[in-house]
Amino acid sequence: MTSPYTPEELDDTQPVIEPFERELSFDVVLWDVSHLMVRHATKRYAKRTQPIERIYVHHSGAFGVDGVAGAINSSRYDVMQTKDKFPGAAYHWWIPYKDLLDSKGRRVILRMNPNDVVCWSTGGSANRHGFGLCFQGNHGKDGEPLSSNQVVCGDVALRALLSIPTLDRKNPIAWHSIAQNFSTAEGKSTCPGHYTEEWLKRWLRSEDLPIPTGNT
Ligand SMILES: [Zn+2]
Repeated sequence: MTSPYTPEELDDTQPVIEPFERELSFDVVLWDVSHLMVRHATKRYAKRTQPIERIYVHHSGAFGVDGVAGAINSSRYDVMQTKDKFPGAAYHWWIPYKDLLDSKGRRVILRMNPNDVVCWSTGGSANRHGFGLCFQGNHGKDGEPLSSNQVVCGDVALRALLSIPTLDRKNPIAWHSIAQNFSTAEGKSTCPGHYTEEWLKRWLRSEDLPIPTGNT
């Protein structure tokens, strides 16, 4: 498994300076657009004090607009329209629904927050030990399956994230609807949606990774 991070960067006692662009595979890159996200006027997210133990997968719940603007709009919604008025974007990485390609034709995944930020993606203690990966769109039964772009980028993103050395070995990947099984989060039955869960289960099986059990 190839890691997008150097061994020095995987030493979590050291801060990581994110480059604007990080190659995740030959055809997928990560762009750090965290500085473009909408931020709350006064609230700020806490820095992590616990290592990342688990990737929690989400969907944004609405398709919104394409490209970087779609991610920015999601952060605006979280900061301005949620009941709790989030400090910033809810997730760490964002996988656009429609193809977002760079000048070389590579697919682009967007970073919304640095890894060391406790963003409010999953709730409770899951925010402190979790990493939030979000698929843009509504992927519930009343929505759409993951797009072809999301299937390609989701595979590359999960492979890259599995190189985080502090992940729980038994269940490194879970999702929002079953978060209560791993944390004090309440879970959210509609997230990341039926189609995302089915895709994740198939992906985990194909990688010989355990499928986390849930109550839903
Ligand atoms: Zn969610």
